[in-house]
Amino acid sequence: MDKIPEIKGYAASLGLTYTKTELETIIHEAEKNSSSYLTFLYDVLYGEIKYRQDKAKERRIKEAGFPYKKYLKDFDLNFCTSITKKQFNQLSELTWVDGIYNLILSGPPGVGKTHLSIALAYHACEEGYKVSYTSMQSLMQVLKTHEVDRRSKAKLNRILKSNLLVIDEVGYLPITAVEGNMFFQLISQLQEQTSLIITTNKGFEEWAEFLDDTALATAILDRLSYRCDRIQMTGKSYRLENRKSFLEKERNCKE
Ligand code: ADP
Ligand code: MG
Repeated sequence: MDKIPEIKGYAASLGLTYTKTELETIIHEAEKNSSSYLTFLYDVLYGEIKYRQDKAKERRIKEAGFPYKKYLKDFDLNFCTSITKKQFNQLSELTWVDGIYNLILSGPPGVGKTHLSIALAYHACEEGYKVSYTSMQSLMQVLKTHEVDRRSKAKLNRILKSNLLVIDEVGYLPITAVEGNMFFQLISQLQEQTSLIITTNKGFEEWAEFLDDTALATAILDRLSYRCDRIQMTGKSYRLENRKSFLEKERNCKE
């Protein structure tokens, strides 16, 4: 009797998606390899667990809201001399996320602040942490509209439940007093529950200026700096150094 449809039905009732969709292959492989009962059961259960872990990882990466993907393996430490190999390895190990430390990456445009923050956050997704990425500008939008906009509310809820939050491009645009206060409230709320990676083109002394409020800037920096590593990323712009010219390529082709 062909039990396949029945087994698939049972697998579906039990939520065993991998077993349901891959049943024929699983059985074929087991027959081909003359697997023992023990190995067969192990393979089925292992396959199901692996499938679920992969799906959950995919979901975490999708829901993190990265504008694009960047990877640690592509970060060139020879170019970025502000970070030692040891520091880079320590950051990659993510124990600082468990310890709820913050990381502030500051420096001029093109030095790799966004690359490093996305790559670390992506790696954290792979390792099972709940992560959110936002630019400062869209964070302000979320904070201003979460009471009336469902998507903003969902984004804020996710931020509040994240193990790691990247806030990219802090200080690029001036913010209003109301926005500054909302930012402070959020930072206070996240303290001791969520690690932050903040990228900024401003030195600490300039925060008072872009927030237009010295007391507020001090209060925010006080909270952020409590358990924090700060990396001043100096050097040349990777973009400018590795500028790719379409016209030059065209010219070389013709010569
Ligand atoms: P920033 O956020 O500091 O303005 P980005 O992270 O956006 O700079 O970097 C600009 C471009 O240069 C990106 O495409 C990024 O991948 C690349 N880049 C910057 N620094 C490095 C580096 N050290 N190794 C590899 N690529 C880099
Ligand atoms: Mg950037």
